Amino acid sequence: MELCDTPLHLLHERRVKREISTEEIARSVLERIESVEATVNAFITYDPGPVLDRARQADGQLAKGENLSPIAGMPIALKDIFCTKGVETTCGSRILKGFVPPYDAAVVEKLAAQGLNLVGKTNMDEFAMGSSTENSAFGPTRNPWNPQCVPGGSSGGMAAAVAAGEALAGIGSDTGGSIRQPAAFTSVVGLKPTYGRVSRYGMIAFASSLDQGGPLARDVTDAAILLEIISGADARDATSSSRPVPEYARLLKTGAEGALKQRKVGLIREIAGRSDLHPEVAAQFAENLQTLASLGAEIVEVSLPGLEHAIAVYYILAPCEASSNLGRYDGVRYGLRTDHSENLERMYKNTRQEGFGAEVKRRIMLGTFALSAGYYDAYYNKAMKIRELLRREFAAAFDQVHLIALPTSPIPAFRLGEKLDNPLQMYLVDAFTLPANLAGIPGISIPGGFTPGGLPLGLQLLAPHFEEQRLILAAKAFEDATPYHLERPQLG
Ligand code: GLN
Repeated sequence: MELCDTPLHLLHERRVKREISTEEIARSVLERIESVEATVNAFITYDPGPVLDRARQADGQLAKGENLSPIAGMPIALKDIFCTKGVETTCGSRILKGFVPPYDAAVVEKLAAQGLNLVGKTNMDEFAMGSSTENSAFGPTRNPWNPQCVPGGSSGGMAAAVAAGEALAGIGSDTGGSIRQPAAFTSVVGLKPTYGRVSRYGMIAFASSLDQGGPLARDVTDAAILLEIISGADARDATSSSRPVPEYARLLKTGAEGALKQRKVGLIREIAGRSDLHPEVAAQFAENLQTLASLGAEIVEVSLPGLEHAIAVYYILAPCEASSNLGRYDGVRYGLRTDHSENLERMYKNTRQEGFGAEVKRRIMLGTFALSAGYYDAYYNKAMKIRELLRREFAAAFDQVHLIALPTSPIPAFRLGEKLDNPLQMYLVDAFTLPANLAGIPGISIPGGFTPGGLPLGLQLLAPHFEEQRLILAAKAFEDATPYHLERPQLG
């Protein structure tokens, strides 16, 4: 296996033993980008210039016997939703073209403190609205497993970059599934932390009560390493939690053997027999449940009747919050201005008209409508009530079980263009990921097999608030028992 296809923690072990250098690792990633990026289009901004220098710097530190962070000098990418000081940050939108933030997001600061070697900013659906990365103003990303198919979204560029070896790992964001679903579509690990675990400061806002940053990585250990780095309290994000950050990476040092012994894993009754559940997904999920059982888990049925309302609730609340958050793009404060006349009103309108894509406009209209006088109670308030019910249903389920297992997505990766003119079909893809965001609980998607046609499928595990350790240990036990995470796409 080439260096750029190898998990970061294994590369780190090898460089510490001087078997390889960080520079060789960085070269391997840069070469891979050269050979596949024209097909994949994982990056919006990509700057190979300083990557080798930063890798050599890490090698220099190693040579001096310094104790190096596993990520120091390793080529890592960031979804283009994170503000990076001095590096253009577009959020996949034309309206932010040319916006160079004067500061780093909290996540970026934390990574920088560990020696971040940023290889590029990855492609995404505009303002993270979408499930396919086709809503990007910078062209779609293609799935490395089959370039005719989407990589999922909205962190599709990040997931594709990791799957294709164009980055060793990275950070995405998940408002309704945008870390987990693309992870599933590309056979990488994606972890959405508990709401509040990771600071949202400097992560461009979509729906603030749902947004959460988290890692996309090649295996569970790498995800744990990154989660530990980016977690923690931040005075600049009032919703960030002050709970101490567990040593997630250390958890796995002693292995995950026995992590599922006598653990109760919930199977959601309402999922069986759903008409939108693809038969190949259902079949692989059944096999994955057996794997969990063979590792000692007891599979217990739980009921989440609110699940069927998750799409309706999310697609009211998220657009409501987005319509307010996106009010700030007015042609004055950030990026694009398309009209230089003296009529301020017209400048606002024209800039927004030309700067935003169709899906973003749709959401702004939906949200503005649902929040307007006369409709607020019927839509926004009602959706908030059902959100609370769903949260309680999860709490009740977690009184009975330690974890809940479900497929990450009801369908495998679909073809480019297939759902573009049917927004509702696109929204339905999120059915199994939205509930975790609505309830604020953590979730992980891990490689969970392939369709007979060779498209990746994800196994999703959910845990109660701030029980990321439980997710990580269980996911690692599953990973150790299955071969799926060892497969790599063959591109070109
Ligand atoms: N697909 C969902 C949406 O379009 C979720 C996106 C996300 O998690 N950012 O809103």
